[in-house]
Amino acid sequence: MVSRICPHCNATWYSADAEGVWICPECGAEIPSQEEKKEDKKEVK
Ligand SMILES: [Zn+2]
Repeated sequence: MVSRICPHCNATWYSADAEGVWICPECGAEIPSQEEKKEDKKEVK
């Protein structure tokens, strides 16, 4: 089970389909694969 956030309406969706493009049921926007959030790892020391 993976979760994705729609880039259009910011709704969070869950599906077992980890591959491919989802179609947001809310706004119909395509939600591309977001395998890993590329967030800058800011080390707080
Ligand atoms: Zn949406």
